[in-house]
Amino acid sequence: MPDALALMRLNHELAYWRRAWRVPVLWWRDDDAREPTWQLDKLLEIRADVPVTLAVIPDVDLHPLANRLSGVAGVTIAQHGVDHENRLPEGGPRSEFAPDAPQVAINAALAAGRARLMAAGLPPTTFVPPWNEASERLITAIGAAGYETFSSGIHGRSREGLRHIGAQVDILRWKGTPHFRGRRRIFDALRLQLETRREQAVFDEPIGILTHHLVHDDEAWRFMRWFVEYAQHRFAWRGLAELCKPAAVTAAAGVAADPLFASRVGAVG
Ligand SMILES: [Zn+2]
Repeated sequence: MPDALALMRLNHELAYWRRAWRVPVLWWRDDDAREPTWQLDKLLEIRADVPVTLAVIPDVDLHPLANRLSGVAGVTIAQHGVDHENRLPEGGPRSEFAPDAPQVAINAALAAGRARLMAAGLPPTTFVPPWNEASERLITAIGAAGYETFSSGIHGRSREGLRHIGAQVDILRWKGTPHFRGRRRIFDALRLQLETRREQAVFDEPIGILTHHLVHDDEAWRFMRWFVEYAQHRFAWRGLAELCKPAAVTAAAGVAADPLFASRVGAVG
């Protein structure tokens, strides 16, 4: 059974880590929240006490979301763009900003989104570009909005003054209707992340698990419920605030600013 074999190989890799007295670091990013929904309730229930980062789209009244999250421990907020509307032609790379949008307008839009989150009591810790956009103009605006980190998918990389915290393992496939990626693919993706860290001796480089609560099918929910339990004693979950501390990742292992093996495991957001 391929799932079982993939899990066996993942467990085998984890055994290498244990023998080296290393515990791999995981963090959890969930995208596209705007307001309280039953799916958000389900996410918060399933994660138990695992820290989670919600990437929030700041184009609605954010107070209902803030109310839902008040008193909920272990939730960090990220700014997820401005309004998640694509303004480039369909079929190509996507962006919230038209090709001729002036830099000052992009900067202002990001800053306004951040201000809305702050005003609602949801101060963002980092920025998550919709569709993993990595254009120079967006990177410039992220820095100008005061962020020191950002998080995109598997191809993200740190820039001057802007550290990247990747979310490499997407539990969904985006071809057609979003649907569960499948256990085998997820186990393999996770194992490749682990192998590369071990081979490069960057044991503390976090691995990001990426979810999208609004479009999970039953299988995706079932997997995450199982995975929280599975990961409990095999990985160390970390909150984003901890990962964003400047020394947390880079100092211990001497990690280069560049990403790990951007080409090896595909994940589309
Ligand atoms: Zn999104």
